[in-house]
Amino acid sequence: MKPFQVAMPKTVSQASRLQQEESAPFLAAGTDLLARIKEYVTVPDLVIDLKRIDGFHGITSDERGVWIGALTSMREVAEHAAIRDGYPALSETIENAATPQIRNMATIGGNLCQQPRCWYLRHEGYSCVKNGGTGCWAREGENEFHAVFGNKVCAVTHPSNAAPVLVAYDAVIEVQGDGKTREVAAEQFFVTPEQDPRKEVNLAAGEMVTRILLPGENQTTRWGYSEAREKQSFDWALASVTVLLDRGGRAGEHRVVFGAVSPAPLRRKDLEKILADGANDPDRISQLQQKVGEGATPLSQNGYKVPMLQGLIAKAVRMAHGQKEG
Ligand SMILES: Cc1cc2nc3c(=O)[nH]c(=O)nc-3n(C[C@H](O)[C@H](O)[C@H](O)COP(=O)(O)OP(=O)(O)OC[C@H]3O[C@@H](n4cnc5c(N)ncnc54)[C@H](O)[C@@H]3O)c2cc1C
Ligand code: SF4
Repeated sequence: MKPFQVAMPKTVSQASRLQQEESAPFLAAGTDLLARIKEYVTVPDLVIDLKRIDGFHGITSDERGVWIGALTSMREVAEHAAIRDGYPALSETIENAATPQIRNMATIGGNLCQQPRCWYLRHEGYSCVKNGGTGCWAREGENEFHAVFGNKVCAVTHPSNAAPVLVAYDAVIEVQGDGKTREVAAEQFFVTPEQDPRKEVNLAAGEMVTRILLPGENQTTRWGYSEAREKQSFDWALASVTVLLDRGGRAGEHRVVFGAVSPAPLRRKDLEKILADGANDPDRISQLQQKVGEGATPLSQNGYKVPMLQGLIAKAVRMAHGQKEG
């Protein structure tokens, strides 16, 4: 690892200005950033530690819903009563992620802004469209864990477990830069390679995630979350499906969002429509399963993700309807 300095600003403005002047990365718990630094994938002279900044740790509620500070640990988010009771799919997905040790340390802001796990991107010897070069090694190379949707320019999958669930709840990401605050809908926060191959999230220079709002109006007790991974721990999801039914008690107000199969969380309005058309009779589930693969462009080694999604969507829909898996 190349030695680097650590700055510890106490305000968002200081951190933001420093980031713009020095092009230095923000550091939260470091479970992603420090691994990249150790592997010489990111080689900064300076990192900007956000942990001394007040006000972005913890979970509070107001008339708009539940606010999660970006520096709150994944474990605290998953275990908090307001999340468990009001947004249980978020607790569930976080409890499936990484390992207990990582969930204890890692922050929810860092989870949303972590870099993708493509092994070419994370090897100092490769350059591709994502890090300033051209082309995509994974398209013709080793692509077992890569994207099956939206993979033409770059085939990374978004690695965050929380991201697709936040999209399903229509969460709002609060972003602050030097003196400016803006709110971005979660669905617009994650950037596709077609929009900008160099970015995964909608943050300008100097901007950081400060809080996440889970709107009160989108709570529902009718939810399902299912995912598949090779190992139960110390791994990433291969595919996930989040299903929310009748959000806020509004009949037909459903969400279906896929995770880990595309560069950004993938909302499937076509499947939401099928769900809105009726109950979860066996025919409807097989209709959903037939449509799951529409738009998919599997690569040489990752075609298994489509039948995997067919199984996951059936499980998530049954769960949302309160049925136990037989
Ligand atoms: C073995 C292993 C398994 C894993 N499995 C999973 C999994 O199954 N699911 C999953 O979701 N994740 C998984 N992860 C990833 C892990 O969840 C992330 O590393 C972690 O959430 C990052 O949070 P952090 O606070 O450590 O971020 P850091 O490492 O400090 O930062 C990560 C990135 O985000 C940026 N950043 C951090 N905070 C902010 C902010 N507030 N605003 C703007 N930018 C910011 C940093 O500059 C950096 O580029 C796994 C990690 C490991 C090592
Ligand atoms: S999938 Fe994306 S990050 Fe990986 S090699 Fe291709 S362009 Fe680069």
